[in-house]
Amino acid sequence: MSQSYPSSASHPIVVVGGGVIGLSIAWRLVRRGESVVILERDTVGQSASRAAAGMLAAAAEVGFEEPELYDLCRASLQEWPGFAAELESESGAALDYRSFGTLVVADDRDAAEALRRGYRFQKEQGYPVTWLDGAEALEVEPMLSPRIVAAVSVPEDHAVDNRALTQALATAVRQGGGVIREGVNVIGMDADPPTPIVQFVNPATGETEQIEASRIVVAAGAWTSALSGWPSGNGPSIRPVKGQILELKTRAPFDLRHVVRGPHAYLVPRSDGRLIVGATSEEMGFDGRMTVGGVYAVMDGAWEIVPGILDQDLLSIDVGFRPASVDHQPIIGFTSNPRIFIATGHYRHGIVLSVITALAAERMLVDEEIEPRVAAFAPDRF
Ligand SMILES: Cc1cc2nc3c(=O)[nH]c(=O)nc-3n(C[C@H](O)[C@H](O)[C@H](O)COP(=O)(O)OP(=O)(O)OC[C@H]3O[C@@H](n4cnc5c(N)ncnc54)[C@H](O)[C@@H]3O)c2cc1C
Repeated sequence: MSQSYPSSASHPIVVVGGGVIGLSIAWRLVRRGESVVILERDTVGQSASRAAAGMLAAAAEVGFEEPELYDLCRASLQEWPGFAAELESESGAALDYRSFGTLVVADDRDAAEALRRGYRFQKEQGYPVTWLDGAEALEVEPMLSPRIVAAVSVPEDHAVDNRALTQALATAVRQGGGVIREGVNVIGMDADPPTPIVQFVNPATGETEQIEASRIVVAAGAWTSALSGWPSGNGPSIRPVKGQILELKTRAPFDLRHVVRGPHAYLVPRSDGRLIVGATSEEMGFDGRMTVGGVYAVMDGAWEIVPGILDQDLLSIDVGFRPASVDHQPIIGFTSNPRIFIATGHYRHGIVLSVITALAAERMLVDEEIEPRVAAFAPDRF
C-alpha cells in the first residue's frame, strides 16, 4: 500500500471516540512513536465499552453463519494474552484477565438439542469443546441449577474486566505521550484540504473549532453515522442495539468458577467477587432508560441457570449501545479517502475484537501494509 500523508510529526493522528476501539488503536499508535489525539465527547471508556460483560467469546458463540467473523474473533483471542500482558506491564494496572473457560448450558430438552447441533458444528470446525451431561456439568460448576440437562465446556474462551481494560488503555496512551481530550463533541471532518481537519465543539467556549490531522481514525461506535464529511457524502450505516446489564456483588458461599451462558442470559464472574449478568438486546434507538422489563428479563434468564444469584447484592444497572452495521460485522479499514480510517460496527464482539482491530490499524496506518485478517471487513464491501 503506498499513500502519501502529511507527516504525523507536524500533525497528529486524530482518533474520534474513546471507547475500547479508539483507545486500543491509539495505544498501538503511540507505542510506535506516532503523535495521537483522542477526541471524546463524554469521558473515555463509557457507553458500550463500559456496559460490556468482557467475554472473549471466540468459540462459545460460533454458529453456522458468519464464519469470517468467528475466524476473526479466534485470531483476536490468540493475540489477547500477549496484548494483555504488555498493557498490564505498561499501564501498571491489572485487567483481571481470566482463562477459566465458559460453560454453555441447556435447561430443557429443546435447548439441549440446539446446544448439541452447535456443539457438533464447533467440533467439526476444530474447537476443543467437550459435551457434558447434567451431572457432569454440576460437578465442574456446583453453582449451576440441578435443572441443567446438558452443557458444553469451552476452555478456549477467556474473559477480561472491560472497565479495567479501558482505564489501562487510557493510562498507557497518556504515558506514551498521547493526548486525550474529553467532553469534546466532534461534528465532522474534512479530509479534502491538503491537511485534513476535524471539527469539534470546544466545551469551554461552546465555539466550533478545528484540529489539523495527518490522518483521522473514526471509532465513534453507535454514533459513527452522525458525523459529517464522509468521502462519499454518506457515512457507514451504524445503528445502536441497546443492552441492559447488571452488576452484582456476590457473598460466600456463592463462587462461580466459569463464565456461564444459558439460552436467555449469561453470568461473568470477576475475581473481586463482582458478577456481571447480562444482557438485553433491544432495537430502541438511543433510548438510555433502565427498565424494569430489562432487569426482569436478564434476572429471569440468569436465575434459571444459576439460582444462587437471587441472594446476591445488586450494585448497578448499565445501558450501552452496541454499534451494529447492516451485516452485523465490523467495519475496519481505509475509506475511499486514504486519510480516513474507520473502525466501528463491532456490535456484540468489540471487546474480543479490540485487539485484532488495533493490531490491524497499527499495521495499516504505521507500516502502510495490507492486513489480510481484516480484508473481509473493509468499508468498501457495502
Ligand atoms: C450489554 C453489552 C454487553 C456486551 N458484552 C460484550 C462481551 O462480553 N464481549 C465483547 O466482545 N463485546 C461485548 N459487547 C460489545 C462491545 O461492548 C462493543 O462492541 C464495543 O464496546 C464497541 O466499542 P466502541 O469503542 O466501538 O464503542 P463505544 O464503547 O460506544 O465508544 C464509542 C465512543 O465514541 C464516542 N463518540 C461518539 N460520537 C462522538 C463524537 N461525535 N465526538 C466525540 N466522541 C464521540 C462516544 O462517547 C463513546 O465513548 C457488549 C455490548 C453491550 C452493550
